[in-house]
Amino acid sequence: MYELPEMVTIARQVADELTGAKVISCERGNSPHKWVWYSMEPEEYEQVLVGRELGGATAEGNRMLLPVQPGWVLAIGDMGGRITLHPDGSALPKKRHLMLGFADGRYLSVCVQGWGGIWLAEEGQSIGFQDTEGRVNPTGDEFSYDRFKALLEDDAGRGKRSVKAFMASKPRISGVGNGYVQDICFRARLHPKRDITTLSGRERLRWYHAIRGVLNDAIASGGRDTERDLFGQPGGYVATLDRRALGQPCPGCGTAIEKTQYLGGSCYFCPECQL
Ligand SMILES: [Zn+2]
Repeated sequence: MYELPEMVTIARQVADELTGAKVISCERGNSPHKWVWYSMEPEEYEQVLVGRELGGATAEGNRMLLPVQPGWVLAIGDMGGRITLHPDGSALPKKRHLMLGFADGRYLSVCVQGWGGIWLAEEGQSIGFQDTEGRVNPTGDEFSYDRFKALLEDDAGRGKRSVKAFMASKPRISGVGNGYVQDICFRARLHPKRDITTLSGRERLRWYHAIRGVLNDAIASGGRDTERDLFGQPGGYVATLDRRALGQPCPGCGTAIEKTQYLGGSCYFCPECQL
């Protein structure tokens, strides 16, 4: 799944490559897929997109917002798979869920694996996902330590909540999924199941810095090496804890890394370092 660092990377690349590009062809998916969410019919995508120009793409959490000028926005995200720019039509993927062709011969394709959304909406209209309200961009200035503490206190007031739940299952921050949760927990020395109401001030501060640190490191590296960018290249961020680490010595203390299933995904952790 693309998470925030991958989507920031791809949105920057799309902005560099395609701002001002005119769409001359559009195909809203040639492969039916139950878990791809669209906001309109195939012919409506074509009617709206063909003849319009792309504005500068930006990332919002794990989604890319792509202005389609004048008047529309394409939002792509919450997805596993690939968003790829092709120099020409020779190597387009056979199964694709969106394809845009440009006047200079290039193509943009979106191929969803697992699930994902490709929403088209008029500017200022809601885009089919409203679950993001109240979430904070964890790499933005608005995510101060005071804001983080306020979110934690608000969450703690709603009953028992874990560190992983706060970040990824019913999150208060946007764009983090099961991938980056692992390294954030490791850097914060917190177990993913740890109850947030039991955290000391020092632990909260360490967690806050771990969120910012891991995500910013990953953005600087162009995302994880297990995901691909707009040009099909892997990112440079190698996770400390993912499936490859299972049974390997913890880089902090040498204890074998363990795995548990929790909140819809595998968690990898050091049983000595992460409490
Ligand atoms: Zn350890």
